[in-house]
Formats: sequence, C-alpha cells, structure tokens
Amino acid sequence: MTIPAQRNVAEPEKLIETLVSLAKRRGFIFPSSEIYGGINAIYDFGPLGVALKHNIRSLWWRQMVELRHDIVGLESSIIMASRVWEASGHVAGFTDPLVECKNCHQRFREDHLEGVCPNCGNKEFSESRQFNLMFKTFLGPVEDSAAQVFLRPETAQGMFVQFQNVLNSSRKRIPFGIAQQGRSFRNEISPGNYIFRLREFEQQEMEFFVKPGTDDEWLDYWKQARLDWYLSLGVRPEKLRLRAHGPDELAHYAKAAFDVEYEFPFGWQELEGIANRTDFDLRQHSQYSGKDLSYFDEETKERYLPYVIEPAMGVDRCLFTLMIDAYDEEEVRGETRVVLRFHPSVAPIQVAVLPLSKNEKLLPTSREVEELLRPHFRIEYDETQSIGRRYRRHDEIGTPFAVTVDFDSLEDKAVTIRERDSMEQVRVAIAELVPALSEKFRAASGT
Ligand code: ATP
Repeated sequence: MTIPAQRNVAEPEKLIETLVSLAKRRGFIFPSSEIYGGINAIYDFGPLGVALKHNIRSLWWRQMVELRHDIVGLESSIIMASRVWEASGHVAGFTDPLVECKNCHQRFREDHLEGVCPNCGNKEFSESRQFNLMFKTFLGPVEDSAAQVFLRPETAQGMFVQFQNVLNSSRKRIPFGIAQQGRSFRNEISPGNYIFRLREFEQQEMEFFVKPGTDDEWLDYWKQARLDWYLSLGVRPEKLRLRAHGPDELAHYAKAAFDVEYEFPFGWQELEGIANRTDFDLRQHSQYSGKDLSYFDEETKERYLPYVIEPAMGVDRCLFTLMIDAYDEEEVRGETRVVLRFHPSVAPIQVAVLPLSKNEKLLPTSREVEELLRPHFRIEYDETQSIGRRYRRHDEIGTPFAVTVDFDSLEDKAVTIRERDSMEQVRVAIAELVPALSEKFRAASGT
C-alpha cells in the first residue's frame, strides 16, 4: 500500500466544514454539552476520536519515554499551589491583549484582528487591556483570595516543581528528561478554527535538563527529532516546516525557540513549540520556594542550575492535523469516494471484519476471523448494511484494511483482504491471515 502524497479536495476552502460534519457523523468529535446548545471552544471525543487520541498519546509516550534510557514520566496535578504560577510568571504575564468592539461589544484578541470587527465590520475598538488566560477557582469552602487557585495552563510547571523528587528517586543524571501528558486550560479570548484553539485541551510536554553550554546542541537535536516524529505518523513532508521565532516573538523565559508548523487550510500554524527555556523556571522556583533546585555533577564536582529544552505539543491539535492531512476525495466509477488516508499506526481501526451479508451461515467463520485478529490489530466487526456501504464507511474513517468473509470462505477457508488506498483485493487463507496482514502493515508503515 503506498499512500498517495497528493490529496484531492473538491473545495479546499470548505475542508474544515466537511471535516466537522464527518467527525460528528462518524463519531470522532462532538460539541461538548450539545443538547444544551454547546459550550464555546470545548469538545468531546466520540469512539473513533478517543481511539485516535489514544494512538497519538501512546506513540508519543513510546517514542519519548519507553524507547529511551534518558527520559522518565510524571503525572502532576492540574491544580497546584498558586505560588507555582507566581514564580513561573503566569500570574503576572500569561495574558493576551483584549479589545472590545465599540459597536457590537464583542471581545477580541487585539493581535488577531485585521483592522475591522470580524462580527460587525466596525473599525472602532476600546483601549486594549491585558487579560489573564488562566481559569480561576477556589480550593475549599471559602471563596476568598487566599483560597484562589488556577487550572494549569501548561503541564510543564509540574515537571520543574518535581525536578528534585524525580532526580532523587529515579537516579537519572544530566542530561535527562521528564515527560508528561495531560489536560491544560486556557481561557482563550478568541478561540476558533474548530479544535485548533480550545479552552480545555491536552498537552504532551517534555522537559529535557542539560548542562548549560550544551543547550544549543540539544535544541538542534530535539527540533529534528520532533519533526521526524510527525513524519513517522505519515504527515506529508511538504506540509510541515520548522520556523525559528524572531527576537520579538520569544517568550520571556526563552533563549531560542522553534515551531513545528503545519500548513492548515487557514495558513501555516504552530503544531508544536520547541523552546530553550534556559534555567529560568528552576531559578524562579528556587527563589520563590527557598529550596535549592540545583544539580551536583559527581564527575566534575560542579554545581549548576540545568538548562531546559522543551518540546511541547497539543494532542487535539495533532489529531486535527492528522485528520486534515489524511482527508482525500477521488472519483470512483462516477462517484466521489471520501478516504481518510491515515497511517496504519494511528488509524482508529486497523482492520474491519466484514461478513458479506448478515446470512447466519457466515456467522461462525466471521466470528472466528474476528477472534483470530483481535489480539493483533484494532478490529471492528461490522455486519450491518450492504458491503459497498460498509467499505465506504471504513474508507471514510480511515481503516487501512478490510477482511471480507463470503460464502466461498466456508469451503476454501480463505478470505479477501481489501486495501483502503488502492482498493485492491487479494485472497488469503485464514490460517495465513495474521502474518499476511502483519506484512501489509509493515510495508504500509515503511518499517
Ligand atoms: P499561541 O501562541 O498560539 O496561543 P502558544 O505558543 O502559547 O500558543 P504553547 O504554550 O507553546 O502554545 O503550547 C504548546 C502546544 O500546546 C501548542 O503548540 C499547541 O499544540 C498546544 N496548544 C496550546 N494552546 C492550545 C489551545 N488553546 N488549544 C489547543 N491546543 C493548544
């Protein structure tokens, strides 16, 4: 199976609309609280969306933690001591400039405006003020300022605050990293573009602690490694690029930063940020907590605050990218075939088991094939509707292979494998099915 690099989309400007509808109809993404009218910039993930997200998470974890000797995991809490966010600079500085349209009173992020109000076309706005993006709540029953806490806007701070505990318990020496995945919350002023900018989302971040002086080298290493990871998920190379932040763009903590960008239908946008955070965070937390967070190098007998290289990605944004990148339409016998050309490693379902019809005679062999394959691949057994409609559904949700059980199967103990991309069909003995499919997966994954 070779995945065609070129994608054909009849109306590219309508791609997002098409995907929104596909995602809901097929069970990838639903608006949150939909029966109550929804809630802005918050979404739920249906059965296929969960599967896709799970695959993204576990491929990242495998690459970043399990396959490495120098990175360990952490799961820190979403609500942390408020001092954490004072030390990190978020209380004072995690803000975006907010303006209000003088005509319709809608509020916008000033740096996202192009001169006129996107809602009513008016050109007059209020003075901008800095709006803090952190969600606030209270810890315990008393709602006063001493009890105020924040929902974390990034997972990173958990890893800085637990740096010493991880170091002492894991016996890692520098250079080493701490990886974490979990929910983050940002009260974005102008969310939008479907799931691109959410108010509740999920991040996968890794803080790699290095000796000062080796930081430039490690930044180079991680920016290439992260770009390669997206390529390994099948994202088309011509749609990906690395972009260096200009001096005006750099966050207050960063010495240098790159974005992995994808060419979305609405332009090149950040998919992942890779930053040299220097020793900013450990230094701040040492000062604010009064605890020494420095590192003692046993070999050189030096004590220093490590520098940190951080690749930070969004799971939802990665999922969105994979769906956009995979979407394809083609003419087949006068009809439009919609295909999500997911790489086999991320496809929510890898093999569909499809009895030709609901006829009871096919049931035992079909179930036997299902049981045979389930331990090896992500399977769906589907016997409703005509076989043509079931193929179309599985093309549309990106299932790389379908295995069809027909009446000949009862005699010859063989089934048909249909490939999603080429639509080619081959007959394979049931006894040979697992190795045959494994081989096809290897070939399709380029491994
Ligand atoms: P922006 O400047 O676009 O607001 P950022 O540069 O502050 O974003 P980071 O703090 O670098 O974003 O976050 C790392 C990653 O987390 C981003 O590359 C993105 O994939 C994801 N992310 C950040 N904010 C959101 C959001 N509101 N919704 C979905 N994903 C997000």
